[in-house]
Amino acid sequence: MPHALIVHAHPEPNSFCSAQMREAARTLTEQGYTVEISDLYGMGWNAELGRGDFTHPLADFFKPQAEQVRAVQEGTFAPEVAAELEKLRRADLLVFSFPMWWFSLPALLKGWVDRVFAMGAAYGGGVGTFAQGAFRGRRALLLFTTGSLEEYFGPGRRDGEMDTLLFHIQHGMFYFVGYTVLAPVVSFAPVRQTPEEREAQLRKVRRAFAELGTRQVIFDFQEG
Ligand SMILES: Cc1cc2nc3c(=O)[nH]c(=O)nc-3n(C[C@H](O)[C@H](O)[C@H](O)COP(=O)(O)OP(=O)(O)OC[C@H]3O[C@@H](n4cnc5c(N)ncnc54)[C@H](O)[C@@H]3O)c2cc1C
Repeated sequence: MPHALIVHAHPEPNSFCSAQMREAARTLTEQGYTVEISDLYGMGWNAELGRGDFTHPLADFFKPQAEQVRAVQEGTFAPEVAAELEKLRRADLLVFSFPMWWFSLPALLKGWVDRVFAMGAAYGGGVGTFAQGAFRGRRALLLFTTGSLEEYFGPGRRDGEMDTLLFHIQHGMFYFVGYTVLAPVVSFAPVRQTPEEREAQLRKVRRAFAELGTRQVIFDFQEG
């Protein structure tokens, strides 16, 4: 049975963003996935990669990546990091669910990547990157809301090209550690929609997650 991990970062459980995350989770379950959700605000997740990530004695000069490699080898991550890393390792499908903040991820979700995409586990330190990344053969995608209208995005438009805005996440995070990256599912400006339009958008989200098998692939590795 395929397994999905949704890492969700919205501070309001009744937000549209949280509602569409629940729709995605329900749809994946209907598709035969087992689904785990890391609700970062709900969990009280700490975004800060620091000395507290490790239970082994640290070198005087703190080098986060070196300590991550050691923690992978010795099993000495702090429990909250170890738990998220286990969830990540279980998942065939990884979904980041969030509102676009400052053309990017909320800091809490970026901090999850800093701490959980650890050197030695996700990339580097004996594991490769990109085609040799730890998660090659698995899929990942973004599910997010915006404040800006769809027509603000595009070449030469006010907010720029979405692919360019998302490059640091889809390429710099997902593809870097080996994922095949599927086209993002975006709900533009739900705040400006009528209740009926929002309902229609939730149906689009459901359809997108019901049809992941045929969803456009935006970064993938050649076989072999
Ligand atoms: C720090 C910060 C930086 C930002 N930077 C950017 C940026 O760079 N680019 C950009 O485009 N935007 C930006 N924004 C805006 C942000 O992306 C949007 O406010 C957010 O994505 C809107 O989604 P939401 O889920 O929070 O909306 P909400 O306000 O939660 O939802 C909209 C409406 O949907 C309703 N709703 C909830 N559940 C349902 C349901 N099940 N069915 C139907 N309706 C429902 C809600 O009640 C609400 O009326 C920024 C915001 C912040 C705080």
